[in-house]
Amino acid sequence: MTSEEFRKHAHSMVDWMADYLDNVEKYPVMAQVKPGEIKAQIPKSFSEKPEAFEAIFKDFENKIMPGITHWESPNFFAYFPASKSKPSILGEMLMSALGTQGMVWLTSPAATELEDRMMEWMRDLLGLSTDWTGSIQDTASTGTFNALITAREKASDFQINEKGFAGMPRYRIYASEQAHSSIDKNVKIAGFGYENLVKIPVDKNFAMISSELEKAIESDLAAGYKPLFILGAMGTTGTTAVDPLDEIGTIAQKHKIWFHVDAAYSGAALICPEMRWMSKGMELADSMVFNPHKWLFVNFDCSLYYVKDPKSLTQAYSITPEYLKTDTDHEVNNYRDWHIQLGRRFRALKLWFMLRSFGAENLRTIIRNHCEWAQWLKSEIEASEDFEMLAPVSVNLLCFRYNDGKMNEQELNAFNEKLLKSINATGKIFITHTKLDGKYTLRLVGGHPELKKDHLERAWELIKEMT
Ligand SMILES: *Cc1c(COP(=O)(O)O)cnc(C)c1O
Repeated sequence: MTSEEFRKHAHSMVDWMADYLDNVEKYPVMAQVKPGEIKAQIPKSFSEKPEAFEAIFKDFENKIMPGITHWESPNFFAYFPASKSKPSILGEMLMSALGTQGMVWLTSPAATELEDRMMEWMRDLLGLSTDWTGSIQDTASTGTFNALITAREKASDFQINEKGFAGMPRYRIYASEQAHSSIDKNVKIAGFGYENLVKIPVDKNFAMISSELEKAIESDLAAGYKPLFILGAMGTTGTTAVDPLDEIGTIAQKHKIWFHVDAAYSGAALICPEMRWMSKGMELADSMVFNPHKWLFVNFDCSLYYVKDPKSLTQAYSITPEYLKTDTDHEVNNYRDWHIQLGRRFRALKLWFMLRSFGAENLRTIIRNHCEWAQWLKSEIEASEDFEMLAPVSVNLLCFRYNDGKMNEQELNAFNEKLLKSINATGKIFITHTKLDGKYTLRLVGGHPELKKDHLERAWELIKEMT
């Protein structure tokens, strides 16, 4: 492709993107295709000869677009949003043109230094203490993995890295029954053994019961285990339940256990001071993770990992082959030592573009609106005779179900499962489900930057119509 062709296609593609974003609500939110339908349209072998970009793009429109679920639609109420914004898309485009690898300062000083500053901006925006420092990661799963590895190495005086687990104590890791599945995966791959992940019961609000945590630790100590790591959730994935971080932190400090806070989703709400009741006790933690790529309008991927003691993190990860040694190693952050992979994208750019384009005031207004409209929908559900709420609403996620009072639990589950399918089959909105205390639960969360209250009003009308 020549520069002239690149210029031409890039211009028309930006036009395509702007049209897409303007018209996204016209597509069925959830892709209405069957398994295998898209793959069947892609030839089994690729061409020997170059193809015209026009032909490639035509196939993108005709063969790929029908299989896209539109995360960019304000009518996407499923999972958690992965909401982006136009300034962040532009940042991502530039990032890809620069093709910067920011593994060490020297490989692009601006990538490291803008990231340093963005981590400070975000720390201050979230109201975190200046004791925290951190770096941008791909995902929250990786952030939590970093925390586990650092805790492991610190506890073993960096010996597990050297010698493996032989002769080491049996370490125990604690998280609530509602914690995100990334802790399960991480415990397995960090070598602890899945049976050493202790799931702590939750209360009626789905938050960890701290006295149960204390009991589990005491009984593990008595049995000769070594409590190593506690994960507290500030906003669980199922219901955005908030674990009592202050009580958990006090227990962690008493027993000298690493305390990690998973604020992957709800962390965004901390930009509003009135929401900081959720982060009470966060100052007692050793590490925390938060994803601007969920509800703070930066394209996937962009996850912030903060620690109090970055030296232990870099000591756990640092390997410096000769070809990566530089003269500035003692003066600057070399972020390759802050995570598993070597190469790293210039993610700070899209975060910077987004933060400056919106401004903090605007961001707070959007987050407040989302939370306020969720409270409105909650009151509609509570006032309705045929629906009931199944969990508290701490931010903008609603967990509810149809219940006319005439069915048993089994019938209710079957009814709500069918209801979910028929709602999504309309293509007008997309919602997902979870199970709470065995109850099939509808989950609806509105977190798109251009969400209006109308979208939620129409979603609620549709849900009632489909029963
Ligand atoms: C989404 C989520 C995660 C995982 O996020 P990734 O960035 O996709 O790894 C972890 N914890 C919580 C609470 C989440 O909601």
